[in-house]
Amino acid sequence: MSRLTRKITGSDLILFNVTFDMAILVCGATGFIGSHFCVLALQQGLDLLLLDNLENSSPKVLNAIREVTGISPRFVEVDIRDKSSLDAVFATNQVDSVVHFAGYKAVGESAAEPLRYYRNNVDGSLNLLESMKEHGVRKLVFSSSATVYGVPEFNPYTEEHRKRPFNPYGQTKSVVEDMMYDLCASDPQYALVALRYFNPIGAHPSGMLGEDPKGIPNNLMPFITKVAVGQLAELGVFGDDYDTVDGTGVRDYIHVMDLAYGHIRALQYLNSNAGYQAINLGAGRGYSVLELVSAFERINGVSIPYVIKPRRDGDLAAYWADASKAERLLGWKTQLGIDEMVRDAWAWQSANPNGYN
Ligand code: NAD
Ligand code: UDP
Repeated sequence: MSRLTRKITGSDLILFNVTFDMAILVCGATGFIGSHFCVLALQQGLDLLLLDNLENSSPKVLNAIREVTGISPRFVEVDIRDKSSLDAVFATNQVDSVVHFAGYKAVGESAAEPLRYYRNNVDGSLNLLESMKEHGVRKLVFSSSATVYGVPEFNPYTEEHRKRPFNPYGQTKSVVEDMMYDLCASDPQYALVALRYFNPIGAHPSGMLGEDPKGIPNNLMPFITKVAVGQLAELGVFGDDYDTVDGTGVRDYIHVMDLAYGHIRALQYLNSNAGYQAINLGAGRGYSVLELVSAFERINGVSIPYVIKPRRDGDLAAYWADASKAERLLGWKTQLGIDEMVRDAWAWQSANPNGYN
């Protein structure tokens, strides 16, 4: 068992001592979630090699990681669709396990350009699993999504809920999960964990790292912060006639630092447990759009003008996680609430109105 350790300055989380020693390759390391994982993992003394093709992130993220942690991260600019470059990374570096964040993530875009999504998310992951196999690496934590469940047959979703994704993005996540499952069935030495994220928001509490979407944000929280900082006039709320507390959509929002820590617990788990596991990472409760807006206004003292718009195509009314499997297997549950999520999202955006640029 891990022992309780100190609070790491600035993280707000109670962390446990890391009791494993692994060289970890982090794919998609400079993205929103990957960068927060890297900060926490470096602060916990883990040995990381960061990999990204910088398609959806800035090299300035590396400076931010260095400033927050005092550690210069090792970084390689590689595209996981390029198998020979990926092989070279494994051939020239010690790698004991992989955390795999790399991929595309926009649901609407995936419907418009499904092949691009399959090529990157599925083919890229297949390359990675093949390179791992060829170099004897059998431990992986993969970024999956609650999108794999599709329309809720019950709420909260447990991991046993049927997988029926209804967009290409969700399909790509489901296919990668299936590859991981099959690989574990083929060889008992594999230890592969798919973490099904709910709705990650917030930022590092230092205000030095955060979410930096290109163009007009698709997701709710970055849209709210862009309104707060004056770059967008008002929030459009997609529907107020759902069967929810106030008619607006309900989601399970999770602080990105809590999510990052879930990966460290998952690495600890797969260090001593073989086989495949799919595990929800969520808070286990939902908030409506208007509840999130009013928490943002209350905590940050900034008003968010909004207008009710029609429902967004393909949106679900409400879903949230049953997060008990994560607690049982990983000893993990969320520690940060909605107040910290909106506080930290605003700390990042207000200090960096143009993100990393
Ligand atoms: P992000 O776009 O900020 O980060 C992904 C990173 O991967 C980017 O830095 C990008 O440049 C890199 N990348 C993409 N394709 C690559 C390739 N072929 N080779 C190398 N690097 C590549 O996204 P994020 O929000 O940090 O999400 C990380 C992962 O979590 C993704 O797989 C996403 O599907 C999954 N996820 C995200 C959310 C969310 O709401 N953010 C929810 C559920 C699951
Ligand atoms: N949403 C909204 N306005 C926006 C973006 C999102 O009202 O500009 C709503 C959306 O309908 C959903 C919730 O906010 O109910 C979360 O949406 P998001 O796109 O952030 O996440 P996802 O749909 O993937 O859960």
